[in-house]
Amino acid sequence: MALSAERRTALYAAAIAAAAWLVAAMLSFTALGGQFDNNVYDFLFRAAPPRPASSPAALVVFDERTFQRYGGIRRLRANLSRVLERIAGDKPAAVAVDVTLADPGDAEEDARLAASFARTPGLVLACEMMPDGSGWQDPIEPFRRHAAALGHVSTLAGPYDEVNRRITLERVAGRERRWALSLEALRVALGAAGILASPSDVAVGARVIPSRWDEGRPLRVRYSERGIPVISAADLLSGRQAPSMAGKVVFVGVTAISAAPDRLFTPLSRGLPVAGVAIHAQAFQTMCAGAFLADAPLSLALLAALLAAVLIVGALSLLMRWQGWALAAGVLLAAHALPWLCFRHDVVLPASASVGAAWLAMLGGGAFRYFFVRRSLQASEAATRRYQQAFHFVAHEMRTPLTAIQGSSELMSRYNLPEAKRRELTGMINAESRRLAHMITTFLDVEKLSAGQMELRLSELDLAHLVETCCRRAAPLAEKKRIVVANRVPGRLRFRADAELLEYAVYNLLTNAVKYSPAETEVVIGAEADNGGVRLWVTDQGIGMDESEVKQLFQKFYRTKRAEQSGETGTGIGLSIVRQIIELHEGSIHVRSAPGKGSTFTVLLPAR
Ligand code: ADP
Repeated sequence: MALSAERRTALYAAAIAAAAWLVAAMLSFTALGGQFDNNVYDFLFRAAPPRPASSPAALVVFDERTFQRYGGIRRLRANLSRVLERIAGDKPAAVAVDVTLADPGDAEEDARLAASFARTPGLVLACEMMPDGSGWQDPIEPFRRHAAALGHVSTLAGPYDEVNRRITLERVAGRERRWALSLEALRVALGAAGILASPSDVAVGARVIPSRWDEGRPLRVRYSERGIPVISAADLLSGRQAPSMAGKVVFVGVTAISAAPDRLFTPLSRGLPVAGVAIHAQAFQTMCAGAFLADAPLSLALLAALLAAVLIVGALSLLMRWQGWALAAGVLLAAHALPWLCFRHDVVLPASASVGAAWLAMLGGGAFRYFFVRRSLQASEAATRRYQQAFHFVAHEMRTPLTAIQGSSELMSRYNLPEAKRRELTGMINAESRRLAHMITTFLDVEKLSAGQMELRLSELDLAHLVETCCRRAAPLAEKKRIVVANRVPGRLRFRADAELLEYAVYNLLTNAVKYSPAETEVVIGAEADNGGVRLWVTDQGIGMDESEVKQLFQKFYRTKRAEQSGETGTGIGLSIVRQIIELHEGSIHVRSAPGKGSTFTVLLPAR
């Protein structure tokens, strides 16, 4: 079944859009797509920093300066107890200590530290998972005794890279569950009795933190470069003035490169590692501010990708002027802006699907527009141009008989002409008006044939008789060029066809053969029975055509260069009518030709 051009275009466009969407959707599930989403996430993070506000947290760090001045890791416990005493003096809401205290150290130092812990309000100590996941490494009993809670200090890197965009709120080792240090610090600070977990969130007092259990209880950390005051332990040890920690939750940890075991990266760290304690403080601040980032459902990402692909390919294949490109570019831009817009509304939309689909649709749709749609447009524009040329030609041709008619009738009305002259003039008027009528009929026929409005009037006919009539009509033209038309059609070839249309076709082939042949050559017309139908051919020794010309021959208004240079007038529509007539009879027409050697037009008409 033949499809209309519009239907075919729409079908191809739909296929390209679907392919762009499918490939982009699949890519978004690969490491490549995941890494792209990560990069976009980090970029958006840096592009839209949260407004700095006074933080409910403070960070006390054992940095390089502290280690250099007050001794390194070996003096840590002694220094830690002094620092804690200084912090306790400020009356903070809670103190979370991210220091490994799983082994006993110097007995005197440990005793002093335990005493400091005892005086620390809302103490939360860190515990770490055993490397094999069999249980927890907790602080030793003398320390543990004073802790209001223990919180795990695991972070969550990736996927696909080492950047900590999230932490995990809940971890299970052996059979024991531990909440994150930051979450426990929040609970202790709020004075809540416990942490309530549901499959989709975690509640501390009246605070609800969205975090799905089936996804591993992740929490996207809203990192902020400003907000949390960072105090060097060195300043506290030296008794220097430090920002007040009253009412805050203080996170204490080691950041000195030489001692901190966990060097981590965040979207804001730009390649410079940060210490785990800083991440925990940021996670705590995220929960306090309620600045949660929700992950968009997968269906939304896929839907956005589909919409982008359909709109872009649709615009490129249906809107032919600049509007097509403009709309496509607009949608492409929107596909890039969408993750940003979502991010502004605290929703993380993976960009790879929609951005990938938009670019693939742009490429596919652009190529389709260039190679297919534009070409068919050019073809139809060329046909229109040829139609206009032919129209000018016809208008010009009509003027010749009209001038003759006008002149003759004027002569007759103005002068009293002798009878012989009057008869000559009326004969001319008659012949010229017939020529005009014939020309107009031909043009109307073309239109009717192309619009499929012409119906066949089938009747039993004798081919030899039909060809004979055509030869007779073409004889004056042939005689002028002293061309011999050899009629080799055998008698008794009878079959059903539309006599008038078929005569038109045969006459056209015959006159073409004569028109496009040099003087004193021969044109042969022959026929034979073929499977109940007939095969008819017209051979000449004329100017011929090359292969590419033969291909275009049956297009309306097409004329070869050689034909135009031959000086023979023509419109280039005869053959297009011939082909339509033959096809109406369910037959076919073929051409064999060589430039300068001649052509053979063969028509096959099946039995009806
Ligand atoms: P027209 O003869 O009015 O130009 P046609 O549709 O009958 O229009 O033919 C289209 C073109 O095909 C011609 O202009 C000519 O270039 C080419 N052509 C047709 N018949 C022949 C032939 N027998 N030999 C060479 N060229 C031909």
